[in-house]
Amino acid sequence: MLAGHRGHDLGLRNRVDWLLDPARAEKILEDLQRLRDEDPPPCRVAGGMTAEPLPVALEAYTLYARVNLNDPTTWYSVETLMKRLRRLLEELLGPELGMLPTSGGSESALTGLYIAREATGRNIVMASRAAHASIAKAARILGMRLIEAPVDYDLRLDVDSLRRLLRAHQGRVAVVVVTLGVTDNGAIDPILEAAEAAWESGAVLYVDAAWGGFPLLGRPAARGMILPRSGPALVGIDFHKHITPPPSGVLLANTPELLDVVEYQAPYMPSGRQQGLPWTRTAAGLAAAVAALEALGQDGVEKLAQHLYELAERVAEGLRAAGIPVQGGPSTPLVAFNVGRRADSVAEALRRQGWILYPSRLPGVLRYVAKWCHTRSDVEEIVETVALAASRGL
Ligand SMILES: *Cc1c(COP(=O)(O)O)cnc(C)c1O
Repeated sequence: MLAGHRGHDLGLRNRVDWLLDPARAEKILEDLQRLRDEDPPPCRVAGGMTAEPLPVALEAYTLYARVNLNDPTTWYSVETLMKRLRRLLEELLGPELGMLPTSGGSESALTGLYIAREATGRNIVMASRAAHASIAKAARILGMRLIEAPVDYDLRLDVDSLRRLLRAHQGRVAVVVVTLGVTDNGAIDPILEAAEAAWESGAVLYVDAAWGGFPLLGRPAARGMILPRSGPALVGIDFHKHITPPPSGVLLANTPELLDVVEYQAPYMPSGRQQGLPWTRTAAGLAAAVAALEALGQDGVEKLAQHLYELAERVAEGLRAAGIPVQGGPSTPLVAFNVGRRADSVAEALRRQGWILYPSRLPGVLRYVAKWCHTRSDVEEIVETVALAASRGL
């Protein structure tokens, strides 16, 4: 019988004394703690796309920090975690998902575009101009040609233009990318129409739901759109944008065979094979996702989504009431608002109150991203600060 983790740790500490001076190690850790304490309090970073992990997720993460996800034969609990996460996601998205844990949206996109290229033998990526920068990056790494389709006023993919572009490049488009939760304003692309157009032209659909996927999983009416089923589709969803520490994401396939493309020989590994683009990687994000989703349950996922949308609604309503233009929705729990040439001074006023909001690619626009650890009074404080700073000097 193997010793438990805690027992292991004690043994290791005794065994390392010949190599490391414990007093020196202690001093280094104290120094790192001091550095860490200078970072902003996590929930105050209200513009970033990541969030403070749920405490249960952080514990599970730490428990699995040293486990190699790439070696499930030796670390056999990884297979169990994989099964449990797949089962949880199948309860929400329907049966027979292919699932590959990834480090997040950018690895999911790189893998997804690669799969589409290999599966179709084609080389063009079609994405909207508002797609995340990681799509252009993945296309470039893969030597694929990116063609950008126009967007409407709310930064949603224009499907008529997409259809025209697909016709103009008939037989050469490997993948059509849609975004659920555009980084600049939270917009949702018209996914079902885009999927239909993609499949008619023989392309794979890639859904970038890195940030928007988790809140949409908590909206029963919207959940069905995340992974359309009538043709080949892949979706990337990040848990580290909302509930777990990074790296913690998944790439899901509605046709599990699509993931066979990234199955490789691994002659020296006990299993003889491995899946996904990286080799050694931590199982921590996988364990954190399992722990967070099991602790929440479907009810909790819905309750959390409700909380995020309520926060975003409050910010949007409060800002509109103060005469500040809000872009779109919020169709996902992100509020992009336009304070024009006062953007820098508004961001500075927020910073003085301890709130960090981020800019967007749209000039004069700042973004509030809702987090589970924000309260009503938090968002009221943000709205008041923005309203005051935006009106000053007008
Ligand atoms: C965050 C994000 C990404 C990149 O994901 P990482 O997890 O940072 O690799 C890609 N697309 C969208 C829409 C995102 O929000």
